[in-house]
Amino acid sequence: NEFDSMNLDEQLLMGIYSYGFEKPSPIQQRIIVPMIETKKDIIAQAQSGTGKTATFSIGILQQVDNGLAECQALVLAPTRELAQQIVKVMIALGDFMSVRIHACVGGTAVRDDIRTLQNGVHVVVGTPGRVYDMINRRALRLADTKIFALDEADEMLSRGFKDQIYDVFKCMPPNVQVPLLFANLHHGKAKQSIR
Ligand code: AMP
Repeated sequence: NEFDSMNLDEQLLMGIYSYGFEKPSPIQQRIIVPMIETKKDIIAQAQSGTGKTATFSIGILQQVDNGLAECQALVLAPTRELAQQIVKVMIALGDFMSVRIHACVGGTAVRDDIRTLQNGVHVVVGTPGRVYDMINRRALRLADTKIFALDEADEMLSRGFKDQIYDVFKCMPPNVQVPLLFANLHHGKAKQSIR
């Protein structure tokens, strides 16, 4: 089981190896290929430290068309710090792909956020509040979004983001793929509360 045998884009593979990864972790071995090939919703339980960030990041980067300057993947995370951390990992993994990835979080200037989004980004990683604000302002358009990933979904639900997540979800095209990453919560129940 190797990154080489996952049918990944050559540029993405270069990013993975130059980031220092040699072999996929167990969760990466189980999730990356089905995420890319089935395009179906995926539920994964993964503590931090297992390689979960790279798992969905690789699954997203492989599916992004950098010739289309529209948001093709949106990732929500419960905290600004986590969102920024995910962006760092994605930028590093996508280093050879000319893909634009933007952290859309509170605590930054709204006007800068709007300008960056209007200039065209391929992937947005953010916290629910700022992301929903950007959608309402028509700065973030989701017509071409094909992946809506929720990292630490249990944490987001327990922080009371459920309504905001659902509001964002309602703006998605109907066939969007939803990868859900949980640290703990019971899977079925959590999935039900989002879809
Ligand atoms: P995470 O579970 O996403 O917080 O990742 C935990 C740590 O494992 C991070 O420092 C990653 O850079 C690292 N990591 C993730 N996947 C791999 C891999 N396939 N090989 C080596 N290190 C990895």
